[in-house]
Amino acid sequence: MNLRKLILTNNACYKAGRTITPKGIMVHSTGANNPYLKRYVGPDDGLLGKNQYNNHWNQDKPDGRQVCVHGFIGKLADGSIATYQTLPWNHRGWHAGGAANDTHIGFEICEDGLTDTSYFNAVYKEAVELCVYLCKQYGLTEKDILCHSEGHKLGVASNHGDVMHWFPKHGKSMDTFRADVKSGLAPTAPATPKKYYRVQLGAFSVKANADTMLKKVKAAGFTDAFIKYSD
Ligand SMILES: [Zn+2]
Repeated sequence: MNLRKLILTNNACYKAGRTITPKGIMVHSTGANNPYLKRYVGPDDGLLGKNQYNNHWNQDKPDGRQVCVHGFIGKLADGSIATYQTLPWNHRGWHAGGAANDTHIGFEICEDGLTDTSYFNAVYKEAVELCVYLCKQYGLTEKDILCHSEGHKLGVASNHGDVMHWFPKHGKSMDTFRADVKSGLAPTAPATPKKYYRVQLGAFSVKANADTMLKKVKAAGFTDAFIKYSD
């Protein structure tokens, strides 16, 4: 994950200054064909690139709407993928249009034309990693993650289709997403200790005899040979 931070301090949501105790994460996608972060995150920090329309979300009411999310995933000016944190994670966001604002961290994945599989795979992976990171930070599990359309079905979010209008086009769903977060959260198995097989050529009670044997062995070309003393 390429996690960066640009808090949208001019947004009315930030200024409202309310906090939450995060109980879950809501995944959104923007619903507009523009994969570039600079559309939403600004001003330019040297990586985002300049938004020539100055219509990013670091203003009171972006596009005249009361909206703000905790993060965006999309493209930097150079085309590489990044995640920007845009609100403190425990700030009350305006992303769900429902009760999930009081409980859920919400982030947007910038949509493109929805047909580019390599872009999709890159932002999907980034989103999984962001959720793993947030789950660890707030003691959550994959079961606490849902998308906007799932939130609507549960009655905690407005009637939007994201992200299930997009993920299935690339063979993914919120179930695969949760499974991938789950494996990201699983403790990694400890590496199995290396095994050695030793070749012993003799055991001597007199050290001089051992030295003599070692000399013979080394002379025969086994230069890694050594003496090990044991009780
Ligand atoms: Zn949404």
